[in-house]
Amino acid sequence: MHLARFPRARFAHLPTPLEPLPRLSEALGGGAQFWIKRDDCTGLAGGGNKTRKLEFLLGEALAQGADTLVTQGAVQSNHVRQTAAAAARYGMACEIILEERVQTNAVDYNHSGNVLLDRLMGGQLRNVPAGSDMNAELEKSAEQVRARGGKPYIIPGGGSNTVGALGYVDCAIELVAQANAQGLVIDRIVTATGSAGTHAGLVAGLALVGADIPILGIGVRAPKEAQEANVHKLAVATAEVLGHGERVTREMTVANCDYVGAGYGIADEGVFEALRLAARTDAILLDPVYTGKAMKGLIDLARKGHFKGETVVFLHTGGAQGLSGYASVLEGNLA
Ligand SMILES: *Cc1c(COP(=O)(O)O)cnc(C)c1O
Repeated sequence: MHLARFPRARFAHLPTPLEPLPRLSEALGGGAQFWIKRDDCTGLAGGGNKTRKLEFLLGEALAQGADTLVTQGAVQSNHVRQTAAAAARYGMACEIILEERVQTNAVDYNHSGNVLLDRLMGGQLRNVPAGSDMNAELEKSAEQVRARGGKPYIIPGGGSNTVGALGYVDCAIELVAQANAQGLVIDRIVTATGSAGTHAGLVAGLALVGADIPILGIGVRAPKEAQEANVHKLAVATAEVLGHGERVTREMTVANCDYVGAGYGIADEGVFEALRLAARTDAILLDPVYTGKAMKGLIDLARKGHFKGETVVFLHTGGAQGLSGYASVLEGNLA
């Protein structure tokens, strides 16, 4: 396994800090020590987990001579914002399809937060209704780019394919090296899991370095069986690209999807509490769609004694740039 063999554009701020969360750990009863891996600080127009994936995706796009990135996501997608940023960095055009997955007419959701930033960075936005065939929409946009003489590079939703997942293989290596250097024994990693690339890359990376650190993915959309199947499949495929698919076993992929609530992008009191607690203990800014839901799960499991005696690293995957898109949802839930 040798990541340097893969084309990669270099723009992420790495390594991201690995820091303790002393006040949050105390607020959750002190039974476990929580740490945080700051992938909200990866750079690139606000950062977040998609930046690591985009280093490998851009590496491939540039190697192919592409001049336009084509991608898709929910209206307040962080992935879309980071892709628009990467396109700007390399002087490429960026064609974006936004799925109206969260049914809302709220002005802030539809125009502020990430949407505002996408437009600021020159992303060309096209909205489609919830449930649209997003792969067909990607192909349609790519065809339009070709028709005008451009060279499109399609990035799937969340940047979650084997190329993007290499970014989280790299994160796994980086995290283990940091822990080794600091003499920190990590008992568990907790992260949000959505389009699966982050979770799958971590599973593959930890398996390939033989770290034996369990990862708990907290689901934000799909039910457990579907989420685990998606993550496992991508983890194996990613490890195969690196030459060692056989090292990833099924039991390495664990997702808890009990904290999704009413659905993707819909926050509830548990999420609001997580946002408030993280902000008011260790000044960590979470988002209501991903990291807030993952933290809601972490808090509940911690209160139930699930992590007793453990050192747990929460992977902060970003998302705070979308917060203003949820101003009207958060208003009234800040007290
Ligand atoms: C995309 C995203 C995730 C989920 O990562 P996947 O690789 O899609 O599973 C988590 N947190 C934030 C803030 C995200 O934008």
